[in-house]
Amino acid sequence: MKDRKLLMIPGPIEFSPSVLAAMSLPTTSHVAPDFIETFGRALDGLCDVFLAKKSMPFVVAGSGTLAMDMAAANVVEPGDGALVINTGYFSDRFAAILRRYGATVTEVKAPSLGDAPSIEAVRSAIESSKCKLITITHVDTSTGVRAPVADYANAARKQGALVVVDGVCSIGGEELRQDEWGIDIALTASQKAIGVPPGLALLAASERALEKHKSRKTPVQNYYCDWAEWRPIMEAYRARKPGYFGTPPVNLVGSLAVSIGEILNEGMDKRVQRHRHLSNAFKAGISALGLKQLPQHRDLQAATLTAAYYPGGSENGLLKEILSEGVIVAGGLHPEIKTKYFRIGHMGAVTRSDILATLGAIERSLIRTGHKATPGSASAAAEKVFAGS
Ligand SMILES: *Cc1c(COP(=O)(O)O)cnc(C)c1O
Repeated sequence: MKDRKLLMIPGPIEFSPSVLAAMSLPTTSHVAPDFIETFGRALDGLCDVFLAKKSMPFVVAGSGTLAMDMAAANVVEPGDGALVINTGYFSDRFAAILRRYGATVTEVKAPSLGDAPSIEAVRSAIESSKCKLITITHVDTSTGVRAPVADYANAARKQGALVVVDGVCSIGGEELRQDEWGIDIALTASQKAIGVPPGLALLAASERALEKHKSRKTPVQNYYCDWAEWRPIMEAYRARKPGYFGTPPVNLVGSLAVSIGEILNEGMDKRVQRHRHLSNAFKAGISALGLKQLPQHRDLQAATLTAAYYPGGSENGLLKEILSEGVIVAGGLHPEIKTKYFRIGHMGAVTRSDILATLGAIERSLIRTGHKATPGSASAAAEKVFAGS
């Protein structure tokens, strides 16, 4: 496998062989009995992954941005106040989507890049903005910052605001407890920690969110996203009956059912622990190479990816060297510092060997591009973390 590359970006990721095999099965009718069972199982399983027994799951063809769009389209009416807790690029995107549907958006921003707003700042912004809804980016993929979702959600619930969580880079890799934390809409996409090729928008809506949709005074301003159309379909498949509004991506749904089976088989707590452990090892290796990470404190570091500044302030051919070592990593995304840092995704089916291979590739590439590093120092630091388990 001379030409094999290891895909270590924050989505799409490396997928398990059985998930990929499911993609290549012959496409059946979307109302075939086998498919009805598969889709029903995927929807039931999604609630277990989101720890959202009481929520209504939605699985539609689209990317994570469509899931964000669906959330906003259904619960926002023109003039509604919305508060965006802004931790980076994808929070900016949520603000833009909310504005498109007529919300009056207030933002509470992190004091600086790589940080997250304090609970006090969020609480006071919720009180003064009198918002009906808040959005939280659980892990902002542009900074690698993980926000304290449970605390923010708690503050919002005290004011009676709906809580929407963009969990695209977190769900399936970070702890997220939708019911317990009082999250009204949690959403993600297939290609990140859920471990399925790109193409599915995944969302779960609480009773309160569905109520807000039902009691709208104005129609949903997006035909494709309207829960009024999709809810009966999801309910039908969960009752193991056929339904049709738009043709589901049959192969992707089959793949989703397999991946969710694997996730639940591992167990949510164990899976979160594994991600944290692999991330700790990877980050120890990155620190041993003298690279500084974007998140300002350890508590803010996501377990699903690592964002680190280039040494010397610029890329200097590093990514190409890493690629020549057989590993694909991602460049920067946050517009303010796009050329100054890079990102490595480590989620889903990622293993210890992948972590070590990636650290080795980065270390050798740094040395080749003129940086000082002791060969083996990154993997030694990672191995120390592994040995401690
Ligand atoms: C990737 C990502 C998105 C966008 O998902 P797409 O599938 O690219 O549309 C949104 N939010 C976060 C946090 C992400 O990581």
